Amino acid sequence: MTYDWLAAIVFIALNIAVMKLGPWLVFKVPALAQMRALNREADKVKMSRQSYRDAVKVNMRAGMWTNYVFYAALLPFCVSFDARPLWQHGVEILAVLLIFDFMYYLTHRFLFHDGPLRKVHALHHQARKPTHIDAQYVHPIETVIGLSLFLVSLPIVALIEGAPLNVFSAAIATILFTQLNTINHTYVNLPYFPFKHLTYITGVHAAHHVDMNHGNYATLTMLYDRIFGTYEAPVSRPTAS
Ligand SMILES: [Zn+2]
Ligand SMILES: [Zn+2]
Repeated sequence: MTYDWLAAIVFIALNIAVMKLGPWLVFKVPALAQMRALNREADKVKMSRQSYRDAVKVNMRAGMWTNYVFYAALLPFCVSFDARPLWQHGVEILAVLLIFDFMYYLTHRFLFHDGPLRKVHALHHQARKPTHIDAQYVHPIETVIGLSLFLVSLPIVALIEGAPLNVFSAAIATILFTQLNTINHTYVNLPYFPFKHLTYITGVHAAHHVDMNHGNYATLTMLYDRIFGTYEAPVSRPTAS
């Protein structure tokens, strides 16, 4: 086991680069820019409440510290520059995302809904019609648990493989996790090609937010909800608020 701090720094740099460049590119598409404007309008109303702003701030701080601890303590053991065939990148990315989503499904369903942390999770469920900022309107305890489940998926896959993940596989999996968790809360009403699937992703999570008794517990794919019978059809959303 080696502590590859350089690979860890490249991992962090890749995440930051996509976070900065991604939106700049994506919102050149007029339909998406229009959706962003609608989300911003609805977010502004939510953020005008002091208690809402405070909750978002505390949550972001909790996420940041969870990341810092993981970056310093575990990440350098989990990533390396070792080259591998293209298919193995695909397997690594898929394994991280599917293992995380399975653990998250169980946690979300049996800890946050039918379990002791229902009240903690109720904060996030105040958003009945989620928009972009609601991805951050989460109790810090929930964020530490949810984010940790994703972060430990990286060493779990490294242990299964018997070697650190390739740094690019790990970065792509992390970017997909971060983005999908945010995107699924946004308001998107573009039910035509090429935005149909994007609209679907937001619709199924909006169905989860209708009240606290709705399914769709997984966050990256609806695979486990379909397997365990908790899948709910997406809701259609004519307006953002
Ligand atoms: Zn929930
Ligand atoms: Zn949500």
